[in-house]
Amino acid sequence: MQSDPSHQHAASEHQEWKPETLAVAAGRPDRVPDAPLNQPIVPASTYVGGSDSGLVGYGRYGNPGWTALEEAVAALEGGTRALSFASGMAAAAGVLAAIPADGTVVLPEHCYLGVAGLADEYGQRHGLSVRTVDITDSAAVLRAADGADLVWIETPANPTMDVADLDAISAGLPQGCLLLVDNTFATPLLQRPLSQGADIVLHSATKFLSGHSDALCGILVFGAATDADLVSRIEAARKLHGATPGVLEAFLVLRGIRTLAVRLRQAEASAKVLAGLLSGDPLVERVRYPGFGSMLAIELADGPTADAFIDNLQLWVHATSLGGVESTLERRRRWPSELTSVPEGLIRMSVGVEHVDDLAADLAQALDAVRGLDRRPGQ
Ligand SMILES: *Cc1c(COP(=O)(O)O)cnc(C)c1O
Repeated sequence: MQSDPSHQHAASEHQEWKPETLAVAAGRPDRVPDAPLNQPIVPASTYVGGSDSGLVGYGRYGNPGWTALEEAVAALEGGTRALSFASGMAAAAGVLAAIPADGTVVLPEHCYLGVAGLADEYGQRHGLSVRTVDITDSAAVLRAADGADLVWIETPANPTMDVADLDAISAGLPQGCLLLVDNTFATPLLQRPLSQGADIVLHSATKFLSGHSDALCGILVFGAATDADLVSRIEAARKLHGATPGVLEAFLVLRGIRTLAVRLRQAEASAKVLAGLLSGDPLVERVRYPGFGSMLAIELADGPTADAFIDNLQLWVHATSLGGVESTLERRRRWPSELTSVPEGLIRMSVGVEHVDDLAADLAQALDAVRGLDRRPGQ
């Protein structure tokens, strides 16, 4: 049992290691004889008092499993500190709780719906002002940032795949305005926002970091330049809101991170192939693919066409959420709360690690079925 910050830091002393290596090596126990390679799960609501070792005393304040996970994600993002939460939304709520209640936040016009809903609630209950912008228009983001406390960027954005120019935005932000980047879609292997001027990086670790659709978790990462007082306020919010990750979830997410690089490499290569195939299909009106990563979105003519396509799939799973080893997709407008600016026929796709030929064949047969040419085996 340890959370003494002077121990456990073997990998963070090797910041020059590549992210693929850090994903495997960071957040391990000290290499002493007979130590386990993996940080064991420590189910503890409380700890014996009286020590000055840096132990936290109570299970809502800390756990060695959180520490190991936080160390690994901080190392991956090139950050100095991370805080893990019960979910991505709990992490988002921790940030909103730490800025002035009557302050101003700039949000993407398209972003994770829960974040937009949460900001809206802060607006109604606490007087937070929310300005929404097109994040692909850096000048518009900077105009909206004038007098704001926080600019919240999600890039690539869910579900429209909008991409922001982080360098242009961070370079032009007024003094005192924080930049948060939701890095869930890109992962630290494809984008490291702290190195591009972000103060806070947010992950729904539920998605790519855990990678197996079996855990809910959120993580915030802070850099050397992030205001230490802000980090303390966010940590205080985690304690007071009880927004803490489960110890099993922290273990699962860290285990998932060990294979992040190979999962993502496979999924990204397949996404590139599938984006090409889909853009050549006459039924697909538009492919939204940023050119990297394993997320894309396609647009079919309308909701019923998209639903018919989805109903004919045999391998791809129609499910919300993303970033797992299994390929999933979702017609976002099936949710009544989805923005009406998201087209009815838009389908968000999360490419997994199955063989690309099987993924492609399944998409092709479902598109053919919609066209009325049924090519499924045995039919
Ligand atoms: C899923 C998601 C969230 C919310 O995370 P949860 O873990 O579901 O609470 C936030 N941002 C993005 C981009 C997401 O995809």
